[in-house]
This record gives sequence, C-alpha cells and structure tokens, in this order.
Amino acid sequence: MIYLDNAATAKYTNVDDIIVDTMVTAMRDSWMNPSSLYATNVKNKIDKCRANIAEFIGARADEIYFTSGASESNNWAIKGWVEQVGVDRLFEKDMFDVSIPYIFTTPIEHKSIMSVLDSDTLHCFRHMCAVDSDGVIILDSLENLLKTYEGEDIFVTIHMANNELGVIQPIKQISKLVHEYGGILHVDSTQALGHIPIDVEELGIDMMSCSGHKISSVLRGVGFLYKKSGVNIMPLIYGTQEQNLRGGTENTYGIIGLSKALEYCDFSYESMSEMRDKRDFFISRLESKFGCKLNGHRRCRLLNNINVTFPQNITGESLLYMLDISGIAVSTGSACNSKSIEKSYVLDAIGLSDSDAMKTIRFTLPDDITYQEIDKVISEIDKCIKLIEMES
Ligand code: PMP
Repeated sequence: MIYLDNAATAKYTNVDDIIVDTMVTAMRDSWMNPSSLYATNVKNKIDKCRANIAEFIGARADEIYFTSGASESNNWAIKGWVEQVGVDRLFEKDMFDVSIPYIFTTPIEHKSIMSVLDSDTLHCFRHMCAVDSDGVIILDSLENLLKTYEGEDIFVTIHMANNELGVIQPIKQISKLVHEYGGILHVDSTQALGHIPIDVEELGIDMMSCSGHKISSVLRGVGFLYKKSGVNIMPLIYGTQEQNLRGGTENTYGIIGLSKALEYCDFSYESMSEMRDKRDFFISRLESKFGCKLNGHRRCRLLNNINVTFPQNITGESLLYMLDISGIAVSTGSACNSKSIEKSYVLDAIGLSDSDAMKTIRFTLPDDITYQEIDKVISEIDKCIKLIEMES
C-alpha cells in the first residue's frame, strides 16, 4: 500500500521498530503501578520521559501533564480554564461578579475544539477570528476582538498547524497580541509536534495540546498538555496523578514510547529540505498534469501536506475509493470527518464552493515516501479520472 494519510496517523516505518522494542522492554520491566511505594524505578522512568519531552519543547518537566491524547488535552485546557475562572471569581474575587469569560478561536480548528466550544454546558462567550483564503488567521480580526473585550478574562485557542490544509499559523505574533491585551493562549500543536521545531517559551505559548500518534502510529492513546506554571486550570479527570490535576494510572509504555519517538525527530536542514522537495514535486505534478488548485498557504504549510481541488468532473469521494482499490490510501479531509460526505467546515471557511470542496483531496506524505511512489500515484490518479469521466 502507498500510504498518503500521515495526518490521520503516522505511517509505521523502520523507526517504529525501535519505539516498539523500547515499549515492549518497558512492558516487561516496568509493569508495576508507578504510584506504588516499591515501584520508584517506574516512577523515575516516567519522570525522565517527562523531562525529555519538556526539553524537546523548551518547557520545565513539571509543566508537562500526560493525557490520553490531544482531544483530551484540548477539552481539558478549555473546560478547565473556564471552570477555573468561575471558581476564582466565586472565592477570590468579587462574589457579585457574574460576568462571563471569553474564548476566541478560528473557524478551522479541529473537531475536538469545535465540539467543546459548541457545547451548551460551557459557560463562556465565544467569538471567531477570521482566516484568509489561504487559511491563515487575520491578525487584525484577532486584535479587534482583544481590543473590544480588553479587561475581561480572555482565552485564545488557535492551532499551530491545520490538520486538513497543513497551514502553519503565526503563533509568535498571535501570542504577542494575546498577551498585550492580557489574555492567555492555548495552542493545539497536534499536527506540528515532531514535524516542526517548537519552543513554547520562545513562541509565548501558555498551554499546548499534543498527541503521540501523529509522530508514531504505535503511540495511539498517549499525549500531553503543556501548561505553563502560573496558569491555573481545574481538572477534567479528578484523581491523584499528574500533580492531582489528571487522575488515572499512567500509560507507562505510551509515555516511554513518546519520549523515545521524539529522539528520532529530525529537524536538520537536509532532512527538512528533502521532504519539502518531495512535497513540492508532488504539488507541481498535480498542478501540471491535472490543473489542480492548491488549498492553503503555499509556503507556510507542513512539509508533508498537500490539499488540492481537482478541476475535472469528479468527486474526491469517488477518487478516494478508486485509489483505495489501487492500494493508495488518501483522505478527503480529516480522518474524523472522512466518513461524512458533508462539506468540510475548514474548506468552507477558506471560501471553497460546495462543488470545489467535493473535488478536494488531502495527501499527507510519510517520511519515507519516494519519488517513484509519487509517480505511481500520479499515474493511478490519471487512470481513475479517465475511468470516472468515461462512466459519466
Ligand atoms: N487536533 C488536531 C489538529 C488533530 O489533527 C487531531 C487528530 N486528528 C486531534 C486534535 C485529536 O488528537 P487525538 O487523536 O490524539 O485525540
């Protein structure tokens, strides 16, 4: 199979053998409950991993809270903050202060953000910042919101890289603005961790959600929330682990695997330019052979993301099924939306018409993709389009 859906979960490659070996060893020699008195070596291993992961993102070890993945981290950051503001007002501030906090976001966040913000039980006002037709946040739109509600409790949640378009947001500029107006910034970095260097201090991030399986498929069900010290949130899962903020016996093997996986992330100039060259070669073939239109910013995008609209009279859905029969795995959008044939809200937000959205495909390349595989995919797409056109 040629796997071109790395944004759904990272393809299993040679490096994963090392991660699996590390995890299997941990299953044998670190099987005890890390909270048990006699299992200090397991607890120490988890803490060593915490320190490694913290170092990888420029944080302190006690600012990393392990979770089951980014959906949980996103839910926790948002709900935990809103609840904390309520508690602070009740107990520390003015008992009669009944004003409601504000959350600003973009219309192209992951479903796990959108769904929390849509929920009736979240006690806050929500506002959308506009994005341009390339999927990049319009900073003026954010600043206008920040200005309008200056002095209120403000939480801004914006992803670092978009799961459908691969667009990378200007986080440093965003954080500067948010802090200028006294807000706090949460960043969903699920698609970015391990793919681009991240330094939370340098970028001015207050909270950040991450997931293991976008780096290595074997790391499904493990992730973390980075929470800068001094930023307070209420627990989502009550218990004693993770500094009393996230209950649940630790996923020791997942945590050990995640720490190992980060050791193999390669941000060298050679490796990053090689990936960029393959991506750009693929894009240029899609543009020249089929007249595809690239969605999302051409340069500010993940090195492995290609999101294109085909001009032919086809649907992304039919192309996806035909490519699947030829042994090529692609996606029409995010994995969480791929079973629905509803228009992607991300494509809607960047202004794609209904019919263009239906002709859109996302290719996300694994690290080991070859030029031969790209050629093969192009020729299979060509065959599929000819077949679809013949039948219609
Ligand atoms: N945020 C983004 C941007 C994602 O792409 C995903 C996974 N598709 C998530 C959050 C959810 O991650 P997890 O599967 O770890 O819950």
